[in-house]
Amino acid sequence: MINTFEKYPFWRTTLADVDAALNSAKKGKVHTLCTTPGGHEVRYIVYGNKPDYRRRANYSSACGARNTVFYADRAGKAPTVLLIGATHGQETEGVAGLLNLISLLETGRDLRGLEVPSITQAFDTSPMRLIIIPVYNADGRGRCVPDSMIDELPGSLRYHGQGTWKDGSLCGWPECKAVHPIKDAAGFLGAYYNDNGINLMHDNFFAPMAEETRALLTLCDSEAPECAIGLHGGSNSTNVLLQPDYVTLAAKEGVHRLAAAVAKKQTSLGLKSHIIPVNEHIGNPPPSFNLTSAIHHVCGAVSSTYESNEGLIDKNAFTAEEILLHHYCLFEALFECAWRKE
Ligand SMILES: [Zn+2]
Repeated sequence: MINTFEKYPFWRTTLADVDAALNSAKKGKVHTLCTTPGGHEVRYIVYGNKPDYRRRANYSSACGARNTVFYADRAGKAPTVLLIGATHGQETEGVAGLLNLISLLETGRDLRGLEVPSITQAFDTSPMRLIIIPVYNADGRGRCVPDSMIDELPGSLRYHGQGTWKDGSLCGWPECKAVHPIKDAAGFLGAYYNDNGINLMHDNFFAPMAEETRALLTLCDSEAPECAIGLHGGSNSTNVLLQPDYVTLAAKEGVHRLAAAVAKKQTSLGLKSHIIPVNEHIGNPPPSFNLTSAIHHVCGAVSSTYESNEGLIDKNAFTAEEILLHHYCLFEALFECAWRKE
């Protein structure tokens, strides 16, 4: 195992890297979301002022009143966008993307030392309130030794991500979700989970088991993001915005418009792209009501999971630089508010 940082200095993804980026930030305002079971502070950085969306009701009640304006009157106001990195601690691709983005917004250059005018200009010309949580599952990220899965074997991803059962055999996906919380069943606790063995994607959202979940949903309720994207790794799949399952058709269409804009940018850079069509039916067994869907139900956000290629030794491996550029395509499309209807 060679840390990707040693080969690609722009690949900064550790908790210490996040602290350094947030501690040196001057333009963004840094806040603490919560403290994890392992004692880590989950921090986030915000750019732009909080618009007055003239809240009169929570989201559910506003929907009951048949007008979401009672929750957030977004017309003519700057949109709020939320980006969430490392809900799973070994999925560092989004963390690398977000720390490069923070560097761009703070200094005008990314961690390669390069200007990326397509991103900085899109951000400057489309003022928005941008909330970035570089590492949401700080316990998992802190426990994970490798700083990426680039040039690792798929078995290494299983070990560092899902961990092992008590007998030492590897957990895998999706069997790793068959026991929850997994802490007492795990031998080696993978970076998927916080220190209490909770997979933050699959908490009980109506009675949160994890402080991280409660704090994030409270933030979403308060900030009313119009678009919220969780940045994940998806083995060596081509980067893709997943269609959320339990959201309105309008939100699914918003994800699709964003995905189309991202794909266009990927193609223009010579990168691969993949779009998932809007899917209206719910299969059996049902898909999970996960964090992506839960966020939608407290604030109405166009909510999606962005799964990145992880550069494993396997088919369709992307390089560190390609992975970064894929995230740039997403950020640029977000700053252009591409989820909205024309
Ligand atoms: Zn994930």
